[in-house]
Amino acid sequence: MDNEEKITLWIGKELKYAAKAVKINLSAFLREKLKEELAKRNMEVKLDEPELILEVRCPYCGFKQQTSTIKTVQCQRCKKFFKVYTRKYGSRITNIIKGDKQKLFALYSRVFRKSIMV
Ligand SMILES: [Zn+2]
Repeated sequence: MDNEEKITLWIGKELKYAAKAVKINLSAFLREKLKEELAKRNMEVKLDEPELILEVRCPYCGFKQQTSTIKTVQCQRCKKFFKVYTRKYGSRITNIIKGDKQKLFALYSRVFRKSIMV
């Protein structure tokens, strides 16, 4: 997705581990701070809405939440990480909230470089 522009930041080991210890999502943190800073400078950035929003179920606690990634998700309730697609158990997707199966399949082949297994 063009929404997934990546950059590399150097913040040092200490800050990285401290953020990890208290479970701060650095990408989300930077996005929020950047939006605040840009708003202060009267610059409004219109963010692309993800084309695909999925509902996934946490394999540890059963909590259902929405996501737009098909890689790894962190459960909002138990904070554990899980993969959306697993070789052993298939997918953790319980519903497509926005988009359709075609969009999901297209994303799958783009991310995993192979066709979806049904
Ligand atoms: Zn959970």
